[in-house]
Amino acid sequence: MESIALRPGNGAPAQPLATSFIQPDDGNADDRTLMRVALPQQVGPGEVVRLEVAWTLKVPRPFQRVGVLGDYYLLGHWFPKVGVFGADGAWRAHQFIQTEFFADFGAYDVRLSVPTGWKVGATGTRDEPQTNADGTVTHRFRAVDVHDFAWTTSPRFQVFTDRFEHPGLQPVDIELMLLPDHTWLKERYLSSTKAALQCYGLWFRPYAWDRITVVDPPADSNTGGMEYPMFVTGEARWLTSSVNRLTEANTLHEVGHMWWQSAVASNEFEDTWLDESTTTWAYRRLVDTIYPPYVLEKRYFRDNLPVFFPDVPLVQTARGADSYDGLRSPFTIESLETPAFRNDERTYYLLPYYKGALMLVTLERYLGWETWQRVITAYTDRFWLRQPTPADFFSVVNEVSGQDLGWFFDEAYRGTELFDYAVDRVSSTSVPRRCASHAGTPTGHRPSGPRAGVHHRRRSSRSSTSGAGAVRCSPSRSASRSATAASPRNAGTAVSAGRDSAIAIARGSRPSKWIPDGCSCSTSTRPTTRGAAGHRPRPRPRSGRRSG
Ligand SMILES: [Zn+2]
Repeated sequence: MESIALRPGNGAPAQPLATSFIQPDDGNADDRTLMRVALPQQVGPGEVVRLEVAWTLKVPRPFQRVGVLGDYYLLGHWFPKVGVFGADGAWRAHQFIQTEFFADFGAYDVRLSVPTGWKVGATGTRDEPQTNADGTVTHRFRAVDVHDFAWTTSPRFQVFTDRFEHPGLQPVDIELMLLPDHTWLKERYLSSTKAALQCYGLWFRPYAWDRITVVDPPADSNTGGMEYPMFVTGEARWLTSSVNRLTEANTLHEVGHMWWQSAVASNEFEDTWLDESTTTWAYRRLVDTIYPPYVLEKRYFRDNLPVFFPDVPLVQTARGADSYDGLRSPFTIESLETPAFRNDERTYYLLPYYKGALMLVTLERYLGWETWQRVITAYTDRFWLRQPTPADFFSVVNEVSGQDLGWFFDEAYRGTELFDYAVDRVSSTSVPRRCASHAGTPTGHRPSGPRAGVHHRRRSSRSSTSGAGAVRCSPSRSASRSATAASPRNAGTAVSAGRDSAIAIARGSRPSKWIPDGCSCSTSTRPTTRGAAGHRPRPRPRSGRRSG
């Protein structure tokens, strides 16, 4: 930081301001990531302060989405940000420890000068580049209603443009910046970007802006998988398989952040789960809707050569805590309520991302998709271009669902208890008949016989996203999916099943019915557990705190 000065605005010279580094989070005197700037006088409501800040960034090797690798630059978190002054009179500003940032919405007008021939992508809408006498080219980007600005540059980028269009949704220009060794991923990046714009737009609310830039970073560059307003970084690796869709899933996640992070701008530093769990829940719902099930993947030769086992479907992670090695232990260390910057290194991802997503998918299955869709849409609408808190989220859930779910959030959000479920007894009977409507078809479900726990089926309604037109994500389709309860490929874990089993997570074990979409014949082979029948949740006495 070179200087911070107050610019009076009346032609008077700038007035340098006193600054000091502060460490409110851990008292580490060597931490120089948060600065206090003393103003000469108080600023009243509605008054304007103009500051001039001069700084130089020494671009590091890639670290936390800022850095240079060869001739590839990714510049996120590259300029001093102003903290958020809360309505309660307190600053929301922290040292940079291990998470992201929180800033107010604003308007950005940024000029970036790079050598001739270097491609530039950034937050915002670009003007025509201007060639300079010194051999550089200045690229100008402008954006409003954004709380951050990121950019990238490299002479090796290959830039592709496309346009998302769908009835009822505003068009969005897509700019895809691919490195030469990943050009074969072009259609996969574009189709997943369009799928996200379409399905999140139809399910919840249209995309906020008219443009998005998708950047393909070098593998292992520490710059992939990140979101900034109107700007996301992807994820790819050598032999990025189309079977388990690393690139597609990452793109769906990061583009999802355009809704919950860029537009619904909760405090990422303190309440990381509010945007990460919502995005994780939404993108996995979308993956479930448009792609075939995941299958077992093993990688050989130093993790480079993928080998797939199509007959071994995987239980997916957002649905079951037990699908994480060692998850049980981190779950007991901290609750979801713990501010993310205080998370243990093991719990940072497990809590805000996966336990949060597990909490939301449980609510979806407890309330039903129709109600849950209204909840998320109301939350998204109400806090569009605003900064909600967890209390705001809980309030919307209770209001729209018409229920006081404080008992649920006491357990799932504030608690550290584990679900301790067990199978007490299992019985089975053979199934003598096949579902007539599906017999002999390659997409029909197969009666499970006595080995019900390995039941597996491919959904006929799923399709690959070879283009946006192939994506089906209409609310009616989704409602059908929810109404039919469990996904058979998730059978075998109580957490993974449908609405009834979502109850089982919180209250005990109860197996789900396996009723395939669109097929009226259900399996008659069901494991049974003692005392589970008729178990319904009851609101618990409050434990002191309310979820709002
Ligand atoms: Zn995320």
